[in-house]
Amino acid sequence: MKEKIYTIPVNEAFDKDCECPLCHLKDEIEKTQIEYALGAAMMEPDNRVESNEKGFCKEHFSMLYAYQNRLGLALVLDTHLEEIRNKLSSLDNKAKALKNERDGLFCKNNVKMFSEELSSLLFNIDKSCVICDNINNTMERYYDVTVYLWEKETEFRKKFNDSKGFCLSHFNGLSRAAVRYLNRAKAGEFIADLCKKQKDELQRIQADIHKFTLKFDYKNKDMEWGTAKDAPIRTIEKIVGQISSDKPKE
Ligand SMILES: [Zn+2]
Ligand SMILES: [Zn+2]
Repeated sequence: MKEKIYTIPVNEAFDKDCECPLCHLKDEIEKTQIEYALGAAMMEPDNRVESNEKGFCKEHFSMLYAYQNRLGLALVLDTHLEEIRNKLSSLDNKAKALKNERDGLFCKNNVKMFSEELSSLLFNIDKSCVICDNINNTMERYYDVTVYLWEKETEFRKKFNDSKGFCLSHFNGLSRAAVRYLNRAKAGEFIADLCKKQKDELQRIQADIHKFTLKFDYKNKDMEWGTAKDAPIRTIEKIVGQISSDKPKE
């Protein structure tokens, strides 16, 4: 478990002054995955089979498009679209047969059944994403390592306690990892500390975002900004995680 490949990045992320160290880790994986998807992965048949099958979500397609490797992207799109068309054509015969559908109390409602099947197929095409899957798998390791370091290393526990807490999604991930990884007493201690930290940090953010709104009142024009100046972006990051990501190197 003490693999340095995971402990070093987790330790480094907790050294950063940010609203969620796990968002920082996620961002790093995401950048690597974008580069990989249009680089080495394109050349590997196994990876191509996976990206043809799963494709990418809207967010990751937009990052791939911004990456400026149009030929690489076009090659991936060409074979992925072919796969989508194959999946849809598996419904061709059922779709054609709908023209003969008749109304009747005891008739099977093929239209409704077909629409549900089509909907589930389209939902899966829309939501499945190689990059999301890879990020989620690595994040599970990072959650486990965070909980492990919290349990074993006093120095890390101090970093954890001094951090500014986590976004809500990673708060959830850590709480689940504690149950998976620690015994019940330790998991209880971890989750209680985590909840207390989140409560304090959400209160801190609330004070900043509220102060931000007050600054727009003429009466408060001379009030010091303090830590409130970038409160809107930090509040968003606290709620949904980091949204501003540097583009990967071109
Ligand atoms: Zn986060
Ligand atoms: Zn995705």
